[in-house]
Amino acid sequence: MFLRELKVYAVKTLSNNYIINVGRTTLIFDCGGRKVVKVLEKLNLNPKAVFITHLHFDHVYGVKYLKDSYPAVTVYAPAPLRSDYANILCLMGLASARGSFNVRLKHDTEILIDNVKVYAYKTGYHTKHHFCYQVEDILIVGDEGGVIKGIFQTKSSKLRKIIEETGPSAILPGHGELYSIRRYVEWIK
Ligand SMILES: [Zn+2]
Repeated sequence: MFLRELKVYAVKTLSNNYIINVGRTTLIFDCGGRKVVKVLEKLNLNPKAVFITHLHFDHVYGVKYLKDSYPAVTVYAPAPLRSDYANILCLMGLASARGSFNVRLKHDTEILIDNVKVYAYKTGYHTKHHFCYQVEDILIVGDEGGVIKGIFQTKSSKLRKIIEETGPSAILPGHGELYSIRRYVEWIK
């Protein structure tokens, strides 16, 4: 049971980005564009950290702008792929943002921001270093799966296991629709 009020704002750019607010703590999951900053400004929220699911361009190209706007934000990101040809273009697009990454996640980790716990799971299916995140009973899953005909589907056996074990009330993918009881989530398209 979670007594604190948790609010999720889904911000649609080329990808889905999520602003999660718990009490006075605001966290961001993926930052695919400047729009994320615009929404933060509109909501008058001051982010503490951004968690990147994977280093594909559409999930990170707002990171530098976010860091310029909020220099105190800590950027948690997976270790980059060096040999994956599919990522070369993305890394080129990322050239300026890469210097903004503060923490390179390499394996499952638990991170405490104020008193909000974020579990980082290395699921590694869509990209070798892909991470999913859990805040309370919400899973942010990037491109590890998606909602097809109202059902969340994933090919990542690790993510399937996490879902079984945590029984999330919302699964928030990097694209398309959300799998959610919708209690928390407000779309900003
Ligand atoms: Zn991707």
